[in-house]
Amino acid sequence: MVPQHRSWHGFQLVNEASLTPPSPPSIIVWFRDDLRLTDHPALHAAAKTGQPVVCLYVFDESVGRAPGGAARWWLAQSLRALGAGIAARGGSLVLRRGPAAKVIPEVVRESGARAVYWNAIAQAPHQALESQLSATLSKLGIDSQSFPGDLLVPPSAIRNKEGRGLRVFTPFWRRVLSLGDPPTPLPAPKELRPSPGIASDRLESWELEPRTPDWAGGLRESWTPGEASARARLRTFLEQGVRDYVADRDRPDRDGTSRLSPHLRFGELSPRQVWHAARFAAAEDPTLVPGVEKFLSELGWREFCRHLLHDHPDLATANLQTNFDGFPWAPDGKALSAWQRGRTGYPIVDAGLRELWHTGVMHNRVRMVVASFLVKHLLIDWREGEAWFWDTLVDADAGSNPANWQWVAGCGADAAPYFRVFNPQLQGEKFDPDGAYVRRWVPELKDMPAKLIHRPWQATPIELASAGITIGKTYPPPIVDHARGRERALAAYAKIRKG
Ligand SMILES: Cc1cc2nc3c(=O)[nH]c(=O)nc-3n(C[C@H](O)[C@H](O)[C@H](O)COP(=O)(O)OP(=O)(O)OC[C@H]3O[C@@H](n4cnc5c(N)ncnc54)[C@H](O)[C@@H]3O)c2cc1C
Repeated sequence: MVPQHRSWHGFQLVNEASLTPPSPPSIIVWFRDDLRLTDHPALHAAAKTGQPVVCLYVFDESVGRAPGGAARWWLAQSLRALGAGIAARGGSLVLRRGPAAKVIPEVVRESGARAVYWNAIAQAPHQALESQLSATLSKLGIDSQSFPGDLLVPPSAIRNKEGRGLRVFTPFWRRVLSLGDPPTPLPAPKELRPSPGIASDRLESWELEPRTPDWAGGLRESWTPGEASARARLRTFLEQGVRDYVADRDRPDRDGTSRLSPHLRFGELSPRQVWHAARFAAAEDPTLVPGVEKFLSELGWREFCRHLLHDHPDLATANLQTNFDGFPWAPDGKALSAWQRGRTGYPIVDAGLRELWHTGVMHNRVRMVVASFLVKHLLIDWREGEAWFWDTLVDADAGSNPANWQWVAGCGADAAPYFRVFNPQLQGEKFDPDGAYVRRWVPELKDMPAKLIHRPWQATPIELASAGITIGKTYPPPIVDHARGRERALAAYAKIRKG
């Protein structure tokens, strides 16, 4: 006879096995520049199946452009926020470092996953990786699916008769608008069924944040990365900022723009979320329409830059207008360093570069002024400025950064003509009329009267003394005279125009 307790035990085992269904295979969702849970098509599709989901981020510096210092800082904060959001829904974020083409099949093996989902990135190196990965997975019998998630419209939807992308913004944007609203954003999954036991790297082991020295104090002071903060910022902007956007967006002395660019860069917010939220705000309050239209057209520039990058993968290195290949740039390490440190003697230029160093962003108007100053007044190759921005911007974007540098330099798509040389003093007087922006970022000029703050070199000794300024000691003289710089730039341009 079988003892009582043995039979009881046996009954339990049999019963457990018959009641618990075998665990379904997991789906890996591969996160990249889409560090959000809402309107994440790949995650949405995976969660909808009811299968366990492995949320995976692979830090892969071998594909595309490795992030610069400020962007690495942002990435670390954003991954923490994403990890917390996933954990709150019952899942966990797995972190791995290395080439994604190798790491993802490894995680497939470890997890027993039967599928890998991701949101596509319409950039050549990422597309090449996606194809390679699909082929590898298919050989292993693993399903792979890619979803649109980063753009309002795919580059394939905006082509000219020859099948090429458009190089002029206005017709490009008209075409985007003619396609109507992009799909409505998808909700975040309410819960995620975790896939047990996948090892993850410790985020700290990637050393994304600066330690010695820790230069990120200004970034911490200025930003809260992550999806929740991105959505709050969008809401606040639509409630308070968009009404005056048309008038205020060019004023660096005002809080007139959305400050969404780093959130968009890391995909904490999708462009279609921004689109639909802005359109909704305008439908609720028609007086917001002009601001919303302008704001969406700026989002259109982001789109335009990404489409350009799709068509010109070497956007960060090759002039779009090839006549600029023979431009007589005048490399000058000392001048470049003065520009980088905000010591050019032009207050609006110096304020911008110091704002950048402290906060990881710079106002758009001032970006144009400092970029023009570098390539025109200093005749330094735009690629030097682009590289500095790449390292110091938290919103450093593989499309927007080089496209805008090329635009300012005159060699880009739909570019500002090279012969239009900004006068930094007049730009300062027009867009920072009281000097509040300069006073904030160049404190040594804070006691200068408004009428002189953008041209301290023209102040009399008495005016300088009463503002506590000694030119050449407390603040540098102009590194180059505006009129001479302008002439030199035009002479250099004449060489390539003829040639
Ligand atoms: C030389 C130079 C380099 C730049 N580098 C970058 C970059 O690396 N990353 C980046 O996101 N923007 C870049 N810009 C564009 C622009 O300066 C920033 O997008 C803007 O300052 C961000 O502030 P915001 O979010 O408050 O903009 P808002 O005025 O609120 O605009 C809303 C959104 O539209 C997009 N946008 C606005 N203007 C542009 C533009 N000219 N080109 C592309 N997208 C735009 C951004 O995603 C922005 O968040 C650059 C501009 C210049 C002149």
